[in-house]
Amino acid sequence: MVVYRCFNCGREIDSESLRKRVRCPYCGSKILYKPRTRTIKVKAR
Ligand SMILES: [Zn+2]
Repeated sequence: MVVYRCFNCGREIDSESLRKRVRCPYCGSKILYKPRTRTIKVKAR
């Protein structure tokens, strides 16, 4: 299961509740991101 997080209200939304619409069911924001798959690359030069 893919879990998204709303960028606006910060709630977690699973992919089943989203279905076709990529939209936060709580606040209606369309800006979602995946907190688990975030790629933070820290390069120590
Ligand atoms: Zn939201």
